[in-house]
Formats: sequence, C-alpha cells, structure tokens
Amino acid sequence: MPAAKPERHSVASHPAAETDVIVIGAGLAGLMAAVFAVEAGARVRLIAQGWGQQLVTPGWISVCDRAEDDVIAEVRGYAALHPEHPYGRAGDDAMVNGLERFRAATEAVGLPYELRRKDGHNMRLMTLLGGIQRVMLAPRGLAAGDLTDVRGPILLVGFAGWRDFFADLAAANLRRQGIDARALAIQLPDPDRYWDLWPGDLARHFDSALFREAMARQVAPHARDAERVGFPAVLGMDDHPRALDDLSGQIGRPVFEIPTLPESVPGVRLSNRLRRWLLRQGARVQIGHPVVRGVVEGRRCVGVEVQSLGHTTLFRADHVILATGGLYGGGIETDESGRVWEPLFGLPVLAPEVTSRAEWYYDDLLIERGHPIHRQAGLRVNTRLQPLDESGEPVLENVYAAGQMLAGFNPLTDGCAEGIALATAYKAVQTALGLDE
Ligand SMILES: Cc1cc2nc3c(=O)[nH]c(=O)nc-3n(C[C@H](O)[C@H](O)[C@H](O)COP(=O)(O)OP(=O)(O)OC[C@H]3O[C@@H](n4cnc5c(N)ncnc54)[C@H](O)[C@@H]3O)c2cc1C
Repeated sequence: MPAAKPERHSVASHPAAETDVIVIGAGLAGLMAAVFAVEAGARVRLIAQGWGQQLVTPGWISVCDRAEDDVIAEVRGYAALHPEHPYGRAGDDAMVNGLERFRAATEAVGLPYELRRKDGHNMRLMTLLGGIQRVMLAPRGLAAGDLTDVRGPILLVGFAGWRDFFADLAAANLRRQGIDARALAIQLPDPDRYWDLWPGDLARHFDSALFREAMARQVAPHARDAERVGFPAVLGMDDHPRALDDLSGQIGRPVFEIPTLPESVPGVRLSNRLRRWLLRQGARVQIGHPVVRGVVEGRRCVGVEVQSLGHTTLFRADHVILATGGLYGGGIETDESGRVWEPLFGLPVLAPEVTSRAEWYYDDLLIERGHPIHRQAGLRVNTRLQPLDESGEPVLENVYAAGQMLAGFNPLTDGCAEGIALATAYKAVQTALGLDE
C-alpha cells in the first residue's frame, strides 16, 4: 500500500517531460544506474536520502567470492541453474556489460578498478585484520595488494597510536596463513592530535606532498627487502592516484592499500567522483532528500514526492529506477510485529514465513548459510526487473528495481551483492530505455 498521502505538496516547476529517468538511491546500484542512463543519452535525476553502503564497505567489487576458477563462467553456470537469482533475472549480458561499463566509468573518473592479471579468477585481498577475501574487481590501490602470487616479505605500515588500524595484528594473521609479513609503526607529525582522526581526515592529509614525504622518509629504510608495502586505505582523498604513485616512488617499492574501519575512503572517493561526473553531464543529483512516496496513476508511476522543508515536491519522470537498498538501506522496512514492507510504492515483498520475528534469525549469529530474514526478504522481479505482484504480473509498467532490495540471494553471505548491484542497475536502465528490445 502506498504511504498515507501528505497534506501539501508543490509541483516542481519543470514540465512533465523534463526527466526521462528518476533513480532513487545513491548506493552502488543507484549511482551506476544514473551513470548508465546518462551514457545512454537519458535525462536523469538521482534522488537519495543519503549515500549508500559503499561509504562503509571495503571498496572492492564482489562478483562471486566463492568462485574457484573463472568467475564469470561460474556465475553464468549458477544463474542458468537459478533463474530466480538476481544474476539469473538480469541475464548474462547485463552481468558482463554491467561490470565492463563500471570499469570504464571508474577509468573515466580517474579511479580505475582492476581485475586480476592474466585470468578471470578472483584476487586475494587483505582485510583490515589480515584475513583474506576473494574479490573480482578493486580500485588500483587495493588491487596492488593481490596476494595471489605473493612471494613476500610484505611490510604493513601503521600509524603509532592511531585507533583504526593495527599493523602488528594484521601481519600476525597473515603469517598464520603462511604469508611472510611484518609490521612497522610510523609516527604521525602530532600523535596527540591525530590518533582520533577519521580515515577520511587522514586521507586529506595524504593529499599533501609534504605530508607524504614525511611519511615515506620513515618507511623507506625499512622497506628495502620488502616485495611491497601496505598502508591503511587513507592514501589521499582528492589526489589519490598521485599519492599512491608518489609514495611508491619515494619508498622504492609498490605501495598498496588495506581497507579500514568506516568511513571507507575508497568508497567516498568513488562516490564523490561519480557524483561530479553526473553533474558535469547535466544530470540532477539530490543527495539528502528522502522520497516519501511514488505517485501512481493507473498502472504507471508519474513521479515521486520528495520531502522539502515543510512540504513535499513532486518530480515527474517517464521511468523510475528503485535502488533504495534492502533492510539496511531503507528500501525495505520492518517493525516489531514482523511486518515487512516496501515503503515508497507499497510493492509486495517476499519475506520468511514465520510465526514470530524470533524466527528471522538462527541462534548462531555467524552461521555460514545466513539468516532467513536476509535470504528471503526482497522484491520479486521479472527479467525486465519490474517488481511483481502475487500473481506474477508487473505491479507498475515503468518502475524497475535494482541492487540489494531484490529477492533471491543473501547480500550478507553470498559474496556477490556488488556484482548484483552493477548487473541489475545496467539491466534496469536497458529495459527502462527500451535498449534491450
Ligand atoms: C560493512 C559492509 C561490508 C560489505 N562487504 C561486502 C562485500 O565484501 N561483498 C559484497 O558483495 N557486498 C558487501 N556488502 C554489501 C554491498 O556493499 C551492498 O549490497 C551494496 O552496496 C548495496 O547497494 P545498493 O545500491 O543496492 O543499496 P544501498 O547502498 O543500501 O543504497 C540504498 C540507497 O537508497 C537510499 N534510500 C533509501 N530509502 C530512500 C528514500 N525513501 N528516499 C531516497 N533515498 C532512499 C539510501 O539513502 C541509499 O542511498 C557490504 C555491506 C556492508 C554494510
């Protein structure tokens, strides 16, 4: 059911045809849907309550973390057997094109994402604690830490007293996995002032050549026998590529980045660059603006109402791409009664059939197969990514869904949520603009 109608709203002064596509959400799915739509020549307005989860994720792209061999081939095989999975719904072409076009977009905004060299296998990248995660794509700084063919030794650099990365602990955990790693703690210029900095604050210091020089001077003498040198992912915010190359040059060894606690600097860099790119292309980008409901006439959405100060504003568009995230993004809501719903259009949501909310979770918090609420809550869509009603018919002709809010997978445990965000964003744009016919 649509939410109760607000008492007042004003209509945005633009004529009805001002926008071809409204994208709701500024997570990976929403941002990339907006990019794909702009690239296809559409007039786009992106509206989001806030940034998405990329601000707290490591910054890499998991396409299928479990794949042992060629990732794309394994996803294809899986999707063929599981047509209800979002990869199955989006189809092979969308998966491949979504990833390729994402890579091209990151290249265009100056933050290229890289694949493992030579083959289509996953990289093996370090986590904050010295664990190893298999991922397919990562920004250049993280990708330079691929441990696949590592010979070592690896030098991990931390900042003495900084609360967000413990190089000793990470190195010890790598050694436990057979990787020759050691740690070095270097001094920030004024430790009392810096210990509590957020990763983003520290990253802005690394934009300064003088700051980098002071850091590199402390590392270089200890790096002579190191194969490469890992830093927490704070190597520059606005000038990251230069910071990375400059540090590698001064230290005399390849430098790589390791994900930190939030905020995720790789995620912030990408979000900022994509936003600026969209604005340069003439797209409208409103972040900090909650959509309160979709406005529906018959079986079409004619626009969305956005919260403004004291009233709502109606923005019209021919198509709407809903990329509002799942349970943790605001796209799907729940309450203490166990009800699960989609708040903007009242779209039907698949949810676990349980008698009590306690059954949403197993007793074991970290259970490998994941909890019922995460695997089973989401929007059921057709192969055009239109949300479906209980009888399997599209609810609305011109509304498409992408990203974590889709049913058919577990975004917390399946290791493919980011690949799904890209594949479904691509597919949603293709169907909205009639490019797949
Ligand atoms: C800490 C962490 C680590 C992760 N690690 C991995 C990993 O290693 N591999 C992996 O595959 N996945 C991982 N994930 C999951 C993955 O990152 C997400 O599934 C993916 O980023 C979701 O993207 P999305 O665009 O669908 O949704 P989100 O990023 O949740 O974006 C939803 C957007 O919708 C907006 N929105 C919601 N409601 C409204 C409204 N009413 N009006 C306007 N805007 C609205 C929000 O503000 C937000 O911008 C991780 C997630 C977290 C939190």
